[in-house]
Amino acid sequence: MVVSRLRSEVRKQLGENEHEADWIISHVTGMSQADFVLHPREIADEEMRQIEDIITRRNSGEPLQYILGHTEFMGMTFKVNDLVLIPRQDTETLVENIVSKIGKKKLKVLDIGTGSGCIGISIAKLCKNTEVTLLDYSDSILAVAKENADLNGVNVKTLHCDILEAVPEGQYDVIVSNPPYIETDTIFSLDNIVSSYEPVEALDGGFDGLMFYRRIAEEVAKDILNENGIIAFEIGYNQGEEVSDILREEDFSNVRVIKDSCDNDRVVMARFKPSLFSSLTD
Ligand code: GLN
Repeated sequence: MVVSRLRSEVRKQLGENEHEADWIISHVTGMSQADFVLHPREIADEEMRQIEDIITRRNSGEPLQYILGHTEFMGMTFKVNDLVLIPRQDTETLVENIVSKIGKKKLKVLDIGTGSGCIGISIAKLCKNTEVTLLDYSDSILAVAKENADLNGVNVKTLHCDILEAVPEGQYDVIVSNPPYIETDTIFSLDNIVSSYEPVEALDGGFDGLMFYRRIAEEVAKDILNENGIIAFEIGYNQGEEVSDILREEDFSNVRVIKDSCDNDRVVMARFKPSLFSSLTD
């Protein structure tokens, strides 16, 4: 079959996901979208078989990023597998804001719950003077993150720590995190693509979805964030006020909620200003 016919066939078979047709064909054939038009060719039987397999998996609900094994984030390619959350466009809001805040400063950055590493690696790539550490609770997740760091040519450290059990080592100027923030009860009622394919551990934020924000603001940051350090969280669209309150109740000031491109609350940023009183009584 010639590529132009194949494109319309694949689109038809993908139904509501028709926009993914070119992505799939390019992945299998190695042809770019320009090649489809400028250098069209016959598609080999083996390529057809691979494309059909992908369509079958896709139509049963598996996210295309897991099928192909990679995705794009901040214009960079990230390897993904079912151990890690698929990087979301929403998360680019967090990266863009923290990157513009850091600029060329020489700062130590900790990405808590790094997953694919998309946040910390983007920061390392865009803010050349930072020293970035990627933290997660599992070595196999950290291996994915490390592979992505290599893929994107950045030097980062990795740190194995379950922050619910222990406080990580080190001192940092910036803590950035997109922690699991969905209420436990909501997870299984989510769009089934998310709940049946993505790791529950990457989504479950406890009974009210706020467990990780509390743990980081109340316990972790106190020990590892430098005075005047910055904390930047991704949040659910309805968590702006609650997460701001958690931070204000601790030693954070300049608490700011930032919206994403769809006008939803998406990021909370604050500065760590430990008071003399609290440092004396700690
Ligand atoms: N930091 C990763 C991301 O933003 C993983 C987040 C998570 O697992 N909750 O995609």
